[in-house]
Amino acid sequence: MQDKEATNIPPDETNALTIAGYEVLPGDKTIIGLNVGSLPSDTKIYINVFVFRGEEPGPVMLVLGGIHGDEINGIEIVRRSIESGVYKQITKGTVIAIPLLNVFGFINFSRDVHDGKDVNRSFPGNSKGSLASRVAHALTNGVLPVVDFGIDFHTGGRGRFNYPQLRCTTGSEESFKLARIFGAPYIVEKPVINKSLREVSGKMDIPMIVYESGESQRLDGHGINFGFDGILNVMRAHGMIDPVDPVKRQEQVLIRKSAWIRASASGIFTWTKKSGEFVQKGEPLGTIKDLFVAREEVISSKRSGYIIGHTNTPVVSHGDALFHIGYDFEILEE
Ligand SMILES: [Zn+2]
Repeated sequence: MQDKEATNIPPDETNALTIAGYEVLPGDKTIIGLNVGSLPSDTKIYINVFVFRGEEPGPVMLVLGGIHGDEINGIEIVRRSIESGVYKQITKGTVIAIPLLNVFGFINFSRDVHDGKDVNRSFPGNSKGSLASRVAHALTNGVLPVVDFGIDFHTGGRGRFNYPQLRCTTGSEESFKLARIFGAPYIVEKPVINKSLREVSGKMDIPMIVYESGESQRLDGHGINFGFDGILNVMRAHGMIDPVDPVKRQEQVLIRKSAWIRASASGIFTWTKKSGEFVQKGEPLGTIKDLFVAREEVISSKRSGYIIGHTNTPVVSHGDALFHIGYDFEILEE
């Protein structure tokens, strides 16, 4: 880990990259600790920012996990990508890898920081604001100014599984291009959410895609593999590593509109269709049975489309979200 006082590299006209006040030179591989406050125990909290620079100039890519502290798949994808050693093979450009942004949420098994605020609704943040706002500010001011494009890794909420998919901003051509290169099965167009990382990145002209897979507090190997492959695809396409293997291509479906099918009764829910499957309008997806063996409610799809998410919760109440169906879609050609 670098120490601010010890890292007194003189300003360099030959492509030094300034990240949170630290100068990183071509060829450098380093870890920067961004201090974002303390626990009540006075333990200092740092966000670890891994920086890998190639010798040749090129794009700066951000791979970010754990804006939501309990979304472990994303944290694991970024961690595994560092562990793989691929970033040490960068010949051109830079990768900034942050496995865990919301340290506070992670240690509390929570999406949010401990006062209940969501870091991803606190951008661009404020260095004198509440904790979530300070964490957002550390990223916005310390890291984003040098970033050319980024991938932000998430999962569904508790008990809510997302099939591997990319969320990209409706109308953002650059984000769409990035999503195509990344290569997850679904690309879901979404308007920007107020005060999110995607919104602040858009204002800074940084294409930022959000990768969603699995659910919070649960590892999902399938989604982790897709996420890691996606990072490699993006690096290969930008010439950052030698393309030993070509970019992996597979069929992608663009989803323009989606809606949840909700529970029409309360009881024990079992599904017969799952995420990743295509379903026809009227096709049965699962059943809800009451506890007194008196009633069985068949849940059917209201539209034809792809199941892009489903609940894994066995006990449901009337109105709970069960299946997320992408119904306005287009199968993308090579
Ligand atoms: Zn999230």
